[in-house]
Amino acid sequence: MIHLENIQKSYFMGKQAIPVLKGISLDIFKNEYVALMGPSGSGKSTLMNILGCLDSPTAGSYILNGSNVSTMTDDALAEVRNKEIGFVFQQFNLLPRLTAAENVALPLIYAGIAKKQRLEMAREVLAKVGLADRSHHKPNEMSGGQIQRVAIARALVNNPSIILADEPTGNLDSKTSVEIMELFGSIQAAGNTVVLVTHEEDIAAYARRVVRLRDGLVETDKRREMAAAH
Ligand code: ADP
Ligand code: MG
Repeated sequence: MIHLENIQKSYFMGKQAIPVLKGISLDIFKNEYVALMGPSGSGKSTLMNILGCLDSPTAGSYILNGSNVSTMTDDALAEVRNKEIGFVFQQFNLLPRLTAAENVALPLIYAGIAKKQRLEMAREVLAKVGLADRSHHKPNEMSGGQIQRVAIARALVNNPSIILADEPTGNLDSKTSVEIMELFGSIQAAGNTVVLVTHEEDIAAYARRVVRLRDGLVETDKRREMAAAH
């Protein structure tokens, strides 16, 4: 589903290029549940933004569902993003004046779906994340875990092929974090592909595969290398 080959990304400070990703090659298959780990500043968010078509690499190729998105125009990229990607953030990013259902229904406005149907679809997805009884609540009437569930429902409502979550448990206590990781597990079980960032080992353990970034590269899996050598 995702094929990254020698992805590089530099940020420019004036004329000076600061390399952040130095040649990431990685495959993620349909229906995987992957946790991306790495020290602060190792480029996790930079990589997630590229995966989510929010940013483009400086070099290298990114094939998503068979299309080379690394060479697309911004307009084409925006279309891929709207169709294929559901993004979840650490800071939740809900609109405070809207109810849970209205927040979840937001992406459907761009899909041109009528309001009544949008809210109906939003309530269906809210039920899937365990919030059937919270659709009329506003963010300030809900707990952090419930708010993150609403944000996950919003990421799911367009039926994207990939859910990307950048430190989705970063603002949650450990019990709530485990519940959110299990929710992503059930989303995977329902057929989605999930890629998320965390810097906590015991949280990453809830995913099916862990990918580690260090110094702008994917850390090679020593055990796998040893197994291959034998
Ligand atoms: P992580 O998510 O792993 O903490 P980031 O991808 O956010 O890492 O950042 C990696 C490095 O790139 C950091 O040194 C950060 O300061 C730098 N960086 C991130 N975004 C920008 C930007 N827009 N402009 C310049 N430097 C940036
Ligand atoms: Mg980050």
